[in-house]
Order: sequence, then structure tokens, then C-alpha cells
Amino acid sequence: MGRRKKIVQECERLMDEPENIRNIAIAAHVDHGKTTLSDNLLAGAGMISDETAGEQLAMDTEEDEQERGITIDAANVSMTHEYEGTNHLINLIDTPGHVDFGGDVTRAMRAVDGALVVVDAVEGAMPQTETVLRQALREGVKPTLFINKVDRLISELQEGPEEMQQRLLSVIHDVNELIRGMTQDMDDIEDWTVSVEDGTVGFGSALYKWGVSMPSMQRTGMDFAEIMELERSDKRQELHEKTPLSDVVLDMVCEHFPNPVDAQPRRIPRVWRGDAESDLAEQMRLVDESGEVVLMVTDISMDPHAGEIASGRVFSGSLEKGQELYVSGTAGKNRIQSVGIYMGGEREEVDQVPAGNIAAVTGLKDAIAGSTVSSTEMTPFESIEHISEPVITKA
Ligand code: GDP
Repeated sequence: MGRRKKIVQECERLMDEPENIRNIAIAAHVDHGKTTLSDNLLAGAGMISDETAGEQLAMDTEEDEQERGITIDAANVSMTHEYEGTNHLINLIDTPGHVDFGGDVTRAMRAVDGALVVVDAVEGAMPQTETVLRQALREGVKPTLFINKVDRLISELQEGPEEMQQRLLSVIHDVNELIRGMTQDMDDIEDWTVSVEDGTVGFGSALYKWGVSMPSMQRTGMDFAEIMELERSDKRQELHEKTPLSDVVLDMVCEHFPNPVDAQPRRIPRVWRGDAESDLAEQMRLVDESGEVVLMVTDISMDPHAGEIASGRVFSGSLEKGQELYVSGTAGKNRIQSVGIYMGGEREEVDQVPAGNIAAVTGLKDAIAGSTVSSTEMTPFESIEHISEPVITKA
């Protein structure tokens, strides 16, 4: 069996274990390194080869695919990662940097429970950092922070340890000020500020594929002095091997982002105004895979062979081929022709996609981004509001 097939099988197994699922987005101001970081995570999870991450993306998983030169984009992808002895399914949804910025980013946030916010260490928090944070928090999506391009502070700007520390702390401070300001009136969200000590902040270089966090430094025994020494002496490969970025970030994802079972009870009242006392509300809060089917469509894309593909988050029930489902805002029902998950930009058909996962579905001809698709007639999800411009711009 090819490696890709094995990964698909493992994803299918994990889809049934909502406690071990993390639905995440990576969000950043343009050029802060979102694409480079996403490639790194895919490479780290074995989805693409390490060498090609950040260059041309090629599937590492089947030789013939490599020969056929299939390129992938990291638009939506499922990967697995072992954390503390347990395999996790990580569904990563890409958020576009600047094209149709507001709309697509907000839609992606509806499907996920955690947002990894990437900030360039040299530039610091920028207007789009604020916008993505606002979008995440309004959807009840928990943020963590990755400060990228730290190699530039060391090798290019030649900063000393104190100067560097000051700079990193100031980025964290700015991001926390934004988070605090945006969540102070939200009584369903506890303290979501990020900190080095609790491991919700990571640092590193997506370009040179190394990263650290407080827990990773404790585990590997590496400290900042050693990192600076290796980075300065151009031993970046050694740095990557000693403290690979993907492990550090994916550990952070598994440890600090909520799984669907923890996230949905908080998120459902935020995005759905139907009867909170109903069985349906309970099924969505509990991520009940045997409940009514409820899918929130967040994106429609075109496939040259399969036609229109609707992707979105399954909040309750299990999606299966042949189901006839209501589509909000339209009169009749649509019949599901296939259900699948994303494996490195390519769709893999599977038998069913249970609650808590991101699905790719064909046959929903009447659905648009924002549709509520369900096996019972229901109050649709709140429409997704777009924020295109930051409300307060940084001076
Ligand atoms: P995006 O717009 O957020 O997706 O940013 P990209 O991933 O495309 O990166 C923008 C530019 O920054 C590219 O030229 C990358 O090679 C570069 N870049 C990304 N990460 C790093 C990093 O950690 N260090 C350095 N020095 N450059 C980086």
C-alpha cells in the first residue's frame, strides 16, 4: 500500500475520534510567512517532501505522483501528527493573504476552532494581523501566536539576546493588547491572551524550518544562546534537525487548540441562533455523529472532473453519499454524490465524514458559501460577516 493510502486510512480512522481532531487555520498579514509555514507543516507531517517544502510542492507519497509532477496547494489539507503518544488528525484550512481578503478569511474561520496567527518578527503586528484576529475571535476561534523570521533578527539585524528578547516581547505585548481589546466584552471567552510560559507562543524561521517554544526548549534542552550560535554560524540544517519547526508548531496545535467536543458547545450559540433547548442544538453541542446531519458550507470550488465541490464543517451527524439534504434559502433537497476529505489539495473520497470534521462534498448544486445544509429543516447559521479593513489601524 502506498504511503498516501496509509495516510488516508489513518485520517479516516481518526475522523471518528473527535477528541483527537484539531480544525485550524493559519492567518497572517501578507508576506509574514503563512505559505512557507503551511508547507513546512505538510512536509513535517509527511504530506510533501521536506526538500520541496517552500519551493515547488510535490507529493512525496507516491513515486508516480512525483514523476507526474503533481503540484499541490495547501488550500485545505488533512494531516496526522503524533502528540504525547496519541495520533491526531489536523485539518488545516488555508486563508488567503490578500485576494478577497475579508470574505474568504472569515468563511475559513467558521470551519475551524483554532487560528495560528503568524507575525513577522521584524515588522511586528500589522493591520491584517488585527483583522484576522478580529475575525477569529468573533467566530469564537482560539488564537495562538507564531513569531516568524527570527533568523533575520539574528543573522541580518545582528541583534543581541537582550535586544531580540525585547523585540519578541513587544510583538507578544501588541498581539495581547489586540486580543484583550477584542474579547473584553465577550463573556463566553476566558483569557485568550498568549504567553511564552504557557506554550501558546512559538518562535522560529519558516524559511529555515526551525522553531522553538517553551515546552520544546524544555524537551530538547536547547536555549536561545545555542539557537543564536547555530543560526549565526549558518548551521541551519542542524538547527532544523534539532528542533524542527513542524513538530513544535503541530505540538502547539494539539496541546492548545480545542478539539471539536470542547469547541462546539461554545461556538454553536455564537454562530447559530436556533432554539438552544432543541435536540438539534444538543446534537451540535455534543458533536453527535449519529444525530441529524448539519454542514456549514464555507467554500465552493470548481473541479474540472467532479464539478462544483462544497467544503465545510460538519457540526452534527455524518455525511454520506446518497443523502438528500436541505440547503438553506432554497426550496428542494440536493442529493450528495460523493463525500471526501482533502489530502494536499486533492480530494480523497471516503465513505462518510462524521461531525467535527471538514468535508468536501459533491452534489450540492444549490449550495453557496455560507449555506446551511442539513437532514432536517432548521434555522440556518448566522451569515458570515466580512471585515475587510481593520477598525483601528496601527500608527
Ligand atoms: P505569506 O504571504 O504570508 O504566505 O508569506 P510567504 O510564505 O509567501 O513568505 C513571504 C516571503 O518571506 C517569502 O519571500 C519567503 O521566502 C519569506 N519568508 C518566509 N518565512 C521566512 C523566514 O522565516 N525567514 C526569512 N528570512 N524569510 C522568510
